[in-house]
Amino acid sequence: MDVTEWKTERRPTRQITVGKVPVGGGAPVTVQSMTITKTADVEGTLQQIYALAAAGCDIVRCTCNESEAAEGLAQIVPRSPIPVIADIHHQYRMALAAMEAGVHGLRLNPGNIRKPDHIKAVASEARDRDLPIRIGVNAGSLDPSLYEKYGGATPEAMVESALREIAYFDEVGFDLIKISVKASSVPLMVEAYRQLAEVTDHPLHLGVTEAGPPPAGLVKATAGIATLLMEGIGDTIRYSLTADPVEEARAGRQLLEALGLRERKNVDLIACPSCGRAEVDVIDVANRAMDAFGERKLPLQVAVMGCVVNGPGEAREADLGIAAGNKRGHLFVKGRNIAVVPEDEMVDALVEWAEFINEHGIEAAIERADTARAEREAAKDRSALLAAQGDDANQSAEKIVEIRKTVSG
Ligand code: SF4
Repeated sequence: MDVTEWKTERRPTRQITVGKVPVGGGAPVTVQSMTITKTADVEGTLQQIYALAAAGCDIVRCTCNESEAAEGLAQIVPRSPIPVIADIHHQYRMALAAMEAGVHGLRLNPGNIRKPDHIKAVASEARDRDLPIRIGVNAGSLDPSLYEKYGGATPEAMVESALREIAYFDEVGFDLIKISVKASSVPLMVEAYRQLAEVTDHPLHLGVTEAGPPPAGLVKATAGIATLLMEGIGDTIRYSLTADPVEEARAGRQLLEALGLRERKNVDLIACPSCGRAEVDVIDVANRAMDAFGERKLPLQVAVMGCVVNGPGEAREADLGIAAGNKRGHLFVKGRNIAVVPEDEMVDALVEWAEFINEHGIEAAIERADTARAEREAAKDRSALLAAQGDDANQSAEKIVEIRKTVSG
């Protein structure tokens, strides 16, 4: 199997559009996030939306919990660079107000807007305006009658909650629907989505709710979302992290790129985990490189490797990389050495060459370089390191002597 050609087969779903962004029906999987400002704070919310869009967010959600929020939405929507969805809980009138404000879609929680008349009033209005609604089921806020029927928040209870809501929508001829069945338990949400995917072809919005702060929150969200995406389930995703929402958007985007579901947009920074051979503080250089690349639109894979002995070979698939040796940084492109720079210029050199490659391509970078000299210098440093460290990069023989001394007192 050629893994570079590998693609997960997506579950066929209907397509809806949120603003101008298609969801489902073969459209690229999209990234969502939610603002954490008061929606009535128009400037603050817009600032956050711009930061989210820059980090890879395709669709943003804002809470609409009071009339000031709906009024804020009326000013936010026309200035937002990405479609805006209003998040509605408890008060169906807020859904009507948000539609009046011009939002591109709604999220309703069927667990806390339960009166059929209210649900149908919102769906009729959405139908007339051609606006999509997400049925956002949440294990923590299911309709109490479903808790009772199933003895708790089971996958079956969550799926039934979604199906009941669809039935109300059907009654008024509304079907611009996407659905989520989120839980903070990964196995519960995975099973609920699997069951839901069996019984409906509406597009699905994936998420592990209340995943918590990173890194545990990132791990939980990734475990749930990636498992389903790899099964072909899921049309749009959201990381629910207790963190700056920009981190959610970045994580969502990075997950989709890592799974080959979205084109790479920013640098994909790979770095060795470091070991006894490392000639620099790899963690520090990798972090500085991450900061330097920031949100630059450089769809390249860039490697930071701790030593010139193994680095260029191990990262030969990277478009560009740097490996340390003898207080110098050896730059390489697709495994070929192209330049040598002083150690403290490693990060600047990486950024400069990445910009060059992005503009002119790999071949031009190799032509521009004095590869013969770069290879020679790399070979020199590699031999010097091998001579100094040999095969025993961790100097284990010396350490063992020290350990024995320590133990024997
Ligand atoms: S590249 Fe060098 S420093 Fe990094 S893990 Fe490999 S051998 Fe160790």
